[in-house]
Amino acid sequence: MQPEWNNSGQKNFLMTRTLCLACQLWAPDVLCDNCLNEFYVTYSRCTICALPLMAQLAGHCDCTDWKHRPNKSHALLNYSYPWNQLISQFKYQRNVNLAPFFSRLLMQNNSIKAQLEQADFVLPVPLSKKRIQQRGYNQSFELAKKMAPQKSYPDIILRTHHVAAQATLNREQRLKNLTHVFQLDPFKTRLIKQKKIVLVDDVLTTGATIQAMCATLQNADVAEISVVVLARTLTIQQETLLSLVAIK
Ligand SMILES: [Zn+2]
Ligand SMILES: [Zn+2]
Repeated sequence: MQPEWNNSGQKNFLMTRTLCLACQLWAPDVLCDNCLNEFYVTYSRCTICALPLMAQLAGHCDCTDWKHRPNKSHALLNYSYPWNQLISQFKYQRNVNLAPFFSRLLMQNNSIKAQLEQADFVLPVPLSKKRIQQRGYNQSFELAKKMAPQKSYPDIILRTHHVAAQATLNREQRLKNLTHVFQLDPFKTRLIKQKKIVLVDDVLTTGATIQAMCATLQNADVAEISVVVLARTLTIQQETLLSLVAIK
């Protein structure tokens, strides 16, 4: 497909939309069909921490020591090439145009679609005001509102402190970092009582964020908490094991 130009001169926008972001060949979407076929792999996953079941063999399941658990979790992808690079662009390089692409992929997954359809509220993991000012948007809200525009609210769960970016911390530090970080808007708490909630996040790493949000929501007496994430991180051993299984 040839690049097109429009009157407003959005050259960069159109260029990124027409070159596959993995192989750099012309493509009708963010990724070309070949790259999508190669890299879009689905796995059976743990229903709590969304780790691929095969990856569990490299160690015990990540969620065995989770204190606060969702009723169900779904992850669309593993946080590996090229998805890690695309998500990084989406999150850190202001490429908010990737939201429609990711939302479309998420909604093509039948169990994610069904989970969203039966939800009463689809709530993004909130960012602090300071982080939104830096980034310009909350990437998880961008996904949530595209998937479930009628059910998505960015301000029911609030992030009360600006804490160090989770990516720079180890597992123990992350859990500590998030204690008491999430609170409900007191004027909206009654809305979610006995309701089915879906939490949306871009990446699930240690589960510290999800556990902290579950603790907050469970205190508010919701009926059910499910989690939908774009990508799940794996340890190096887990990635190696999955690649060995894939080679056969
Ligand atoms: Zn490609
Ligand atoms: Zn698990």
